[in-house]
Amino acid sequence: MVHFVGAGPGAPDLITLRGAKLLEEADVVIYAGSLVNPELLKRCKATCETHNSAYLTLEQVLAIIERAEAGNKATVRLHTGDTAVYSTIREQMDALEKMGIPYDITPGVSSFCAAAASAQAEYTLPGISQSVILTRMEGRTPVPEREKIASLASHGTSMVIFLSAGMLPALQRELLQGAYTADTPACIVYKASWPEEKVLPCTVGTLASVGQENAVGKTALILIGDFLNESFDRSCLYDPSFCTGFREKENAK
Ligand code: SAH
Repeated sequence: MVHFVGAGPGAPDLITLRGAKLLEEADVVIYAGSLVNPELLKRCKATCETHNSAYLTLEQVLAIIERAEAGNKATVRLHTGDTAVYSTIREQMDALEKMGIPYDITPGVSSFCAAAASAQAEYTLPGISQSVILTRMEGRTPVPEREKIASLASHGTSMVIFLSAGMLPALQRELLQGAYTADTPACIVYKASWPEEKVLPCTVGTLASVGQENAVGKTALILIGDFLNESFDRSCLYDPSFCTGFREKENAK
């Protein structure tokens, strides 16, 4: 059996209880070594066999899994953050299905959630934004034309940009083609939840220069939008003049 596990954003105590238990029980662990915190591997049994997938192809990963299955071993495939975004689990699941190998998925805390926590921010604010766009700049992996940042930026909503910290000047140009202005707040969050974390508030206009001045490396997210501003409307949910399924209006009592 193969368990795909979201490792969380980096801090070793931000893995789920279920993910931690699966790691403790695993006979074989294949971890995405470029981003997964190696501290997590301290949970593994002394006899556990570990492989860093940064050095492996998909075929080599599958060969390790096939061997483990033949020996009736439990395999954990550990991916950074959550497994549902930019994790490459789909191609592995499809291959496992063809090979007749069962698998399950344990989600993790995505870096986009950890980055908001580090920036002490909430993406969805009444009167400001009720949607979050998770996206990336085109790199070696193509992005469909209709999803180009310049086009998504036309919504002016909260945006989180993955895998693009090495392309900040181009990203800044694309953002400015949409509804954002040079004054729209932005924040670069480098290695959210790691000891070396950096939270760099800036604006769309200063994004590239702030990134360069702080020598922001690859493991960063770019947050964009007015949710990073001071002002917004308070929630309806906790407003005394609103009733909910659990609470009557205060003045109705
Ligand atoms: N599945 C992962 C994303 C993997 S793609 C998740 O849910 O977070 C790798 C990209 O994620 C990096 O290039 C970076 O943009 C972002 N990332 C991953 N961990 C991060 C962290 N701790 N802090 C900031 N960005 C991070």
